Amino acid sequence: MAFPYLFSPIEINGMELKNRIVMTAMHLGYTPEGTVTDQLIAFYSLRAKGGVGLIIVGGCPIDEYGGMSSMIGISDDRFIPGLKKLTDSVKKNGARVAAQLYQAGRYTHSAMIGGRKPFSASAVRSKFTGETPRALDLEEIPGVQDRFAEAALRAKKAGFDAVEILGSAGYLISQFLSPVTNLREDAYGGSVENRMRFGIEVAKKVREAVGTDYPVIMRLAGNDFMEGGCTNREAKVFSGALENAGVDLFNITGGWHETRVPQLTMNVPRRAYVYLAQGVKSVVSRPVLASNRINDPETAEEILRNGEADLVTVARGLLADPDLPRKAQNGTAGLIYHCIACNQGCFDQIFNLRPATCLVNPMAGREADLSVEPASTVKKVLVVGGGVAGMKAAVVAAERGHKVSLMEKTDRLGGQVLLNRLIPGREELVTAADDLAGNIRALGVEVLLEKEADLSLVQSMKPDVVVLATGAMPILPEIPGVDQPHVVQAWDVLAGKAGVGGSVVVVGGNAVGLETAMYLARIGSLTPEVLHFLAANRAESMETLMELLNRGSKKVTVVEMIKKAGKDIGFTTRWTIMAELRRLGVTIMTGTRAVRITADGLEIDREDGPGFLAADSIVMAAGSRAENSLAKELEGVAPEFYIVGDATEPRKAMEAIREGFETGLRI
Ligand code: SF4
Repeated sequence: MAFPYLFSPIEINGMELKNRIVMTAMHLGYTPEGTVTDQLIAFYSLRAKGGVGLIIVGGCPIDEYGGMSSMIGISDDRFIPGLKKLTDSVKKNGARVAAQLYQAGRYTHSAMIGGRKPFSASAVRSKFTGETPRALDLEEIPGVQDRFAEAALRAKKAGFDAVEILGSAGYLISQFLSPVTNLREDAYGGSVENRMRFGIEVAKKVREAVGTDYPVIMRLAGNDFMEGGCTNREAKVFSGALENAGVDLFNITGGWHETRVPQLTMNVPRRAYVYLAQGVKSVVSRPVLASNRINDPETAEEILRNGEADLVTVARGLLADPDLPRKAQNGTAGLIYHCIACNQGCFDQIFNLRPATCLVNPMAGREADLSVEPASTVKKVLVVGGGVAGMKAAVVAAERGHKVSLMEKTDRLGGQVLLNRLIPGREELVTAADDLAGNIRALGVEVLLEKEADLSLVQSMKPDVVVLATGAMPILPEIPGVDQPHVVQAWDVLAGKAGVGGSVVVVGGNAVGLETAMYLARIGSLTPEVLHFLAANRAESMETLMELLNRGSKKVTVVEMIKKAGKDIGFTTRWTIMAELRRLGVTIMTGTRAVRITADGLEIDREDGPGFLAADSIVMAAGSRAENSLAKELEGVAPEFYIVGDATEPRKAMEAIREGFETGLRI
């Protein structure tokens, strides 16, 4: 059997799970009033059908102070009928289902709880919200704990198979545990025993409410990654105490929302935080669930086989592909659409108060309204352009039974997305292209590589439908001196077609400009393998290693005309890229206009006057324009004609894939 460890059953206090895959809670924004909607039921039912063992839904605020009203409500009995419909449907489709009990404490915005002040262990300002909470009075504490227990009982009544208490990421329970946010001088503050007291009492009260034979899960930060905060050492002590308090399963994740250590972005290596779960596993006898950046069955199987954890979380991975477990089990793991940790469709949407979707799966969140159905008439479809928009259109058209050909002028499918393969921490984007290419081949789409479309070739193929997906081209701005040999396009640098000298100025501080700068600045710094080798053999001092890690061989400057660089990068990812550029010593000059390129540099203009940046090479990252020069020629060739993706207007991969998907449905 493929993945024998992943597909072995496990029992958690009487709850039988058919495999080790757990979809942990994610805020989705599908419950605007807190009550369960058809959208939420359809979303989770499809994941259950796809073969996941356990789905944890939530966060479900236990009270009106704990979170937004648009989260899945569990703070009142009126939510029970809707929750019951959800649990019935998930269970009918073959998965177990748990509710996550959520109280965010100082991570709650006052605006989201009717202007009231959120509470915490102590009145310590939250960088996440920019607000200072009030400290809970001693007499108030039992009431808050009781609300966890009442919510747990409601979950049980609504048919959930288990409850999960959220004690991670800087939420209320971890605020009590951490000396950073707990400055109390009573029985709940001071020593680690006192700081653990709040969470332990919550676990005990929940256990009392649901009875002995009902699974209780605890989600914990394996390390807060906060200066002065709890580390894996405290997580172990806390877990041991929670086990005695009756917790059946430990869900171990990484740090707080306020940490400056990336947790979920593409630059976090796959399985990076499994070591934290392993640490907890070394002290508890109950099962442990490893989380964060586990997006493929191979990695999951390895973690289980190595004994590093007993179960694995695949959450965004199931947003991206609900059928991941089924594909892994039936030998078609090669057809999985992997989560690429871009956050563009999920967390970035949520932070903008929009419902979650997914870059690689435009169906996500629309399961109640859309499905890929066989076409009533089979058509001959020709897609021109093998970028992600064209590939998605080809996949969906082929899934619907059309006869599809895909023409690509280069020797590889993927288009502009392939430019990410050299950018440190952005390589995962190429996975999105490779997954589409794999599915295209499996669906029997005729792939014509190194073939450039023209009128006579397309006419000779006699298509019923032409989809033009020829992408975009970089713009060469009209700056005096731009035609000199030391001026190159960022796209050519990233494609490995153009080299640059020792000092480089990148013109354009958009995503492409910053990512190109990151690639160039990393050249000559230590690779992960060399760093590991040198550190393991103590060949260099830690100070020297950090120096070698943080500095490459090129001096890189980015100039950007507007006041903010990286404006086109999503909120949850931008700060990680800016931090990486700072670490690598890249200079970013905003509010700076490129005036003229000379043989030895760039003349600039800033608010404080003109200036000059000496450089061996100038890299242009001035945006792109739609490449649709074939449109006029091909428009009348077939009865149906569509233009998709950047060929309409340059945007992000998410829009390109969504348009390809919708076009595939329309044909
Ligand atoms: Fe993963 Fe990106 Fe989809 Fe979110 S939007 S689930 S990060 S691929």
